[in-house]
Amino acid sequence: MAMSDNFPLIPIPGRDGLWHIYARSPGGGGDVFSHLIPGKDAAILLDTGFGIGDLKGMVEGITDLPLIVVNTHNHPDHSFGNPQFDTIHIHSLDADLLNRLMEMPERVVPPEEEREYKYVQEDMVQPAPYKVVTIEDGHVFDLGGGYEVEVFHLPGHAPGGIALLDRKRRVLFSGDALVWTPTLIMGRPGWPCTPWHTVEKFRDGLLRLEAHMDEFDVVYPGHSRQALPTSIVTDMIACCNELIDGDLTVHYNILGNGSPVHVHGMAKIAFTEDRIHVKE
Ligand SMILES: [Zn+2]
Repeated sequence: MAMSDNFPLIPIPGRDGLWHIYARSPGGGGDVFSHLIPGKDAAILLDTGFGIGDLKGMVEGITDLPLIVVNTHNHPDHSFGNPQFDTIHIHSLDADLLNRLMEMPERVVPPEEEREYKYVQEDMVQPAPYKVVTIEDGHVFDLGGGYEVEVFHLPGHAPGGIALLDRKRRVLFSGDALVWTPTLIMGRPGWPCTPWHTVEKFRDGLLRLEAHMDEFDVVYPGHSRQALPTSIVTDMIACCNELIDGDLTVHYNILGNGSPVHVHGMAKIAFTEDRIHVKE
């Protein structure tokens, strides 16, 4: 794959052999992180970014281990690089959209003045078929050498959103469920809303995670500030419970789209009233 001079992917070494791969936003959505989680016999690549640049080539330059590629959820900023890989693991509730993304028309690089940094047509990963393997809450990836990584289902931002717990390194990878910027659980006209797009379901997933809080020391999200303290879990549960109990205080609005945000400690939720309670 040919590469632009201004490389769109930046690998950052982390603790205990982890790598965090930073991808600048092509214009929509925030800058995003993929994470490389090596074990002894295999490595997890968590998320494939915007599909701009040769992520596969970069990762293969870092590790010789066979890759298990996992999406934290099906949004394009985490999955557009999927066609570089043969097989993608994703929660069953998020699998359908991947099949549709494979059938998208060719991706064309926008005019230079509309891009935030330089990348070229050859950097664009084109839609292509790959195998989708579905996973559920509690699934464990055995990477060998005692590296076991467990799936925690955290719906709300996306129905099949997941976090991964690397017990040996004591690290939680939280996708877009726990981020420094607001966790987006908000509706818009035309956006689908299911019981899995609610604060209630998010809170229930967080409660299962809370029971494992003695097993990790740090949280690596899919966007923005990295290495968050674990107290974001308890703050987020409190933030959810306030909304569920009817405290809809708007502490600020997101610049640009104006979405209301409720805050508790370091936890922030961008919400709309139709996405708090599960409706039967
Ligand atoms: Zn995202």
